[in-house]
Amino acid sequence: MTDHRDMCVVFDIDDTLYLERDYVRSGFAAIGRLPGLGGFAEAAWQLFLDGVRGDTIDRALRVIGLDRDPALVLQLVRTYREHRPDIRLLPDALGWLEHHHAGTRLACVTDGPLSSQRAKAGALGLANWCPTIVMTAALGAEYGKPHVRAFQEVARVTSLPPERYVYVADNPRKDFDGPHHLGWATIRIRRQGGLHAESATPAFVDHEVTDLHDLDSFLGQKR
Ligand SMILES: [Mg+2]
Repeated sequence: MTDHRDMCVVFDIDDTLYLERDYVRSGFAAIGRLPGLGGFAEAAWQLFLDGVRGDTIDRALRVIGLDRDPALVLQLVRTYREHRPDIRLLPDALGWLEHHHAGTRLACVTDGPLSSQRAKAGALGLANWCPTIVMTAALGAEYGKPHVRAFQEVARVTSLPPERYVYVADNPRKDFDGPHHLGWATIRIRRQGGLHAESATPAFVDHEVTDLHDLDSFLGQKR
């Protein structure tokens, strides 16, 4: 039976529950442990800190004196995506998950390569709290955010009216249009060190927070 106070809080994962930069660093370290790639992790991390995005692996190979061999780059991308990440839930996220209101259901909607997102969810132990974790890549490449499909999938499984859903996420470019279109509330989390922390929050977003400590006061207003 659905209690009228039931709510479903749906989380993004990257830069919402843990810091994506920690995943990036962990991935570069995994590559750096491969034979012949000494110095790679340090070079790639420095490029990341300098703002390089997208072709970091190619450029880091050049820094350590290796040619950009397409087969090697593919292998390294696979190592990055399939490595077991050394990442942790942020303390406020862990605290919120451990103490959340008993009438609150939890789910995740996350974007990105399936192997990466699975490895992240596993390393963070998200299945301990979230019975529903929808990875957009598992639905098909065309259903990545901001498409509504992953959010509809959460609604199908949890069967609450739209106003009982809240999506908590960090990236204004893609996170909020889908759930907003379905009539969900949206909360933008703007974490220090988050990759999109500098982007402005869209006007239609209901609330902005810097961590999850304030989430309950927002949810309390909706109960
Ligand atoms: Mg994110």
